[in-house]
Order: sequence, then structure tokens, then C-alpha cells
Amino acid sequence: MKHHKQFETSVIHDGYESADMLGSLAAPLFQTSTFTFETAEEGERRFAGEEEGYMYSRLGNPTVTVLEEKMAALEKGERALGFASGMAAVSAILVALTKANDHIVCSSGLYGCTFGLLSMMNEKYNISHDFSTMETKDELRELIRPETACVYVETPINPTMKLIDLQMVAEVAHEHDIPVVVDNTFASPYLQRPLELSCDVVIHSATKYIGGHGDVIAGVAVGKKDFLDDVQMTTQKDIGGIMSPLDAWLLIRGLKTLPIRVDRHCDNAEKIDVKLRSHPKVSRVIYPNDANHPDYHIRQKQMKRGGGIISFEIKGTKKDAQKLLNNLGFVKIAVSLGDAETLIQHPATMTHAVVPESSRLEMGITDQLIRLSVGLEAWDDIWGDLEQALDRL
Ligand SMILES: *Cc1c(COP(=O)(O)O)cnc(C)c1O
Repeated sequence: MKHHKQFETSVIHDGYESADMLGSLAAPLFQTSTFTFETAEEGERRFAGEEEGYMYSRLGNPTVTVLEEKMAALEKGERALGFASGMAAVSAILVALTKANDHIVCSSGLYGCTFGLLSMMNEKYNISHDFSTMETKDELRELIRPETACVYVETPINPTMKLIDLQMVAEVAHEHDIPVVVDNTFASPYLQRPLELSCDVVIHSATKYIGGHGDVIAGVAVGKKDFLDDVQMTTQKDIGGIMSPLDAWLLIRGLKTLPIRVDRHCDNAEKIDVKLRSHPKVSRVIYPNDANHPDYHIRQKQMKRGGGIISFEIKGTKKDAQKLLNNLGFVKIAVSLGDAETLIQHPATMTHAVVPESSRLEMGITDQLIRLSVGLEAWDDIWGDLEQALDRL
């Protein structure tokens, strides 16, 4: 039996064979819009699907293929597709899975633009949605209807860091033959692999940990070959939110260090979690690897470690939250996450500003809540900056 490569080896070697590319160690960047055919008949065979080969970069590009094959291997899926952004992936998958008058059950707490997309689908196509905390099987079961087309889950949830038991959700959804789609952006495949927990489709904003260097906007979807073949020929090809070859090239480069980076993000976050908890200006810290986290048992069950994101609430008002951000030195005020730089943001006025206040508060996104994406700097430098900013509140 062939030895199964471990994650750290797959991330570097899967999806690419240097011998096929004149010995080039790095996967080449195929910065081309189209591909030439030797003959008219060859073009005919390719378009008819009778012969493998590239035709036009919206239908496939060799650099993008390398990234897709790596992501499929890392998430343990049959096939992956690259997209222009995480939202291009989310929208291509949700539009592929639904038709007018369908229904979606989603986790209570979603990326702001995913919430926006669901509202738009509701207005335009009467595709309704219900939120569920998905804490128990019954709570989820009660919301499933004959028109329910999919269950859509984020875990850890942005930005409240609640966790959902993916295996439990898949069991309930599969009783009704409904697919489970998981936005795995916050965990990365190094920490959590939803397909191994019986879920059906994984989505990433590759902008975050997959790229890891803050220089790309991109998305990926992973799942069964039949389903993703269908997505490729419909909502990917015809809506057109494809990944650019240069972005795929940057992601392949970033991906090689994913396990090393994510371990360091986790090491730093674990230390900062402890420090934040003991600061008098901080009223609450939410970090999944802390034994005080209400979903710690789910973290132990389905995530290798706690990840690099910490959310916390400060004592005071929205103005105090903004003052804390303004007090910081090298810690940067920015949305996005998973970069080398430590980034901090205020969800109520930034990532979740589009969410109506009542839904926002229901999700637990108060004016005092702050989200920290712990970077790769020396952890005590990060804490030093945070501490001086908190002390000056
Ligand atoms: C950033 C993000 C998205 C959207 O991804 P883009 O690459 O910005 O389009 C979706 N889900 C989560 C959890 C995210 O953090």
C-alpha cells in the first residue's frame, strides 16, 4: 500500500510534479487567457469533453489546477474549485444548491456578506432562511422543511467564536438528504476538516489563512467530484467568479507554510488569551481553546487547536472600543485575518455594519466586542502593544 502523505508533506508536494514542467521546482505561473489548439478537430474534441486539455482560462488554468488539487488533498475532498474571492465561492455554491422558493438553515452568526447574500436571495428569489444555534439535534430538526435545500454552517463563527458540532449537524441533515456546507475559513484545513466529519461541501476565503500574507483575495470550494463538476459548468463558468492564475500562484506559495504558520498563530493566541483574561478593562474573552469556552468540548472533538482569532469585550462604550483601536502601535486596524501582521477590528461598525442592529445583537455582536487576528510577531510584543492600549482606556 502506498504510504499516505501527512498534512505537512501534502501541502508542499500534492498537486504538482516538477518533472512535468521542465523540472521547475516552483509551479509555473500560466498567465494566459487562452490556449491554442493544433487543429480545429482538437478544439472540437476539447469542447466536446472527449479530450482532456485546457481551452480558455475561465474554464480552467494549469496554475489554478495545482492550487485546486492541493486544496482537495488537504480537505480530503474529491475535487476543489478556485474562485475570485471567498464570496464568489459562497455565492456559486449557494446559487448552485437552490432554486426559487427554497429554504436554507444557517448557523446563527455568519460572515457579514454571507448574511447580505442570503437577504438578497430572499428578496429576489424568495429563498428564505432560518438561523439556528445548532446546539441540539432537535433544535436543528425543527427548522428543516420539505423546501430546505441545504444547511449552511460557520464554525468557529465569525466573530463570536461559537462552535458547532459538525458531525451532529451532518447526521440530522442527512436524515433528510440535505447537504451541509461549511465555511472553514477560520479554522483552515490544518485544524478542522469538515468533509471527514461527514459534511458535504467546504468553502474557504483563501484570502485568510490559506494565503496567509495579506496579498490575495480568493476563494475555494471543496467537495464531491460530481457536485463540483456541476458547479464548474454552471455557477462558476457562467457567473464567472474564477480565480486568477497569479492569485493561485501566490496561494500555492503561501500554502506551503500553512501548518507552521497556523501552529504559531495558535501558540501566540493561547498566550494572549490568558493575558487578556487577567486585564481589568476586559470583561469577556472568547477563545475556543480556553477551558472556560462553553464549546470547549466541541473544540476538543473536531479541531486540532483553537486557532488564531480571539474576540473580547471591553468595559465601556463603543467610543472606548474605538479608543482602544486608536491607542495601538504596530497592531494594525484592519478587517481580514490570518495574516502575518496582528490585525484588530470592531465588528459592529466594520465587518458586521451591514447587519441590522437587532440581528447583530442576537448574534452577540455588541458595541464592546473586538476581534483580534493574532499574527506571527513575538507574542510578548503583541501583548505589550495591547496592554498599553488597554491601560490607557
Ligand atoms: C473573509 C471571509 C469570507 C469572504 O471572503 P472574501 O475572500 O473576502 O470574499 C467568508 N467567510 C468568512 C468566515 C470570512 O472570514
